[in-house]
Amino acid sequence: MLNIVIFGAPGSGKGTQSDNLIREYGLYHISTGEVLRDHISRATKLGVIADRYISKGNLIPDDLMVSVLEDVLDSNPEKTARGVIFDGFPRTIDQAVALNDMLARRGTLLHAVIGLEVDEDQLMNRMLLRGKETGRADDNPVTIKQRLEVYHRQTCPLRDYYIAEGKYLPINGNNSIDAIFEDIKKALAPIVSK
Ligand code: AMP
Repeated sequence: MLNIVIFGAPGSGKGTQSDNLIREYGLYHISTGEVLRDHISRATKLGVIADRYISKGNLIPDDLMVSVLEDVLDSNPEKTARGVIFDGFPRTIDQAVALNDMLARRGTLLHAVIGLEVDEDQLMNRMLLRGKETGRADDNPVTIKQRLEVYHRQTCPLRDYYIAEGKYLPINGNNSIDAIFEDIKKALAPIVSK
């Protein structure tokens, strides 16, 4: 079993590298952003609430986000058996603590955090391009700026948190998609072989 967090700023390539990780290790992918966008498109009660935060580039409150993640884990027990790749969660220290608790209650743990480290100017360019290509609503200049500010203020401290836990694997995310994935596989090798 392999539980991984893929960590990085918005636009750092978490979704792209998650696709590679799913293929290579057969992990179940949970992207909290995708879960929320699905609720927004179906206009569920959660979707209506989430949209208020996402459209402004702000984070959904921790207690709500933790309960959303618990629901996803509980509704997919067979799919999560080989392990999970958590994409976009945690985004705060409180969420990281909740994730450790959540996994411990299920008799498992977080094995590694892949930290995609990308230069700021690349992040902005990638998100603007994605906005054009996919029509993703929060990939517009004003919301991107706010998301990057929120990342630096609320999410960046997690890097030190996971370094202290000895779980952080820094990856240069400025390279090509294939080169980044080679680095990820190398970094994970000692953990996978255990
Ligand atoms: P993402 O697709 O991961 O970039 O997430 C898109 C948006 O969903 C974020 O800007 C937040 O508004 C919201 N979101 C996703 N994951 C979380 C989370 N773990 N905590 C709070 N808000 C989140």
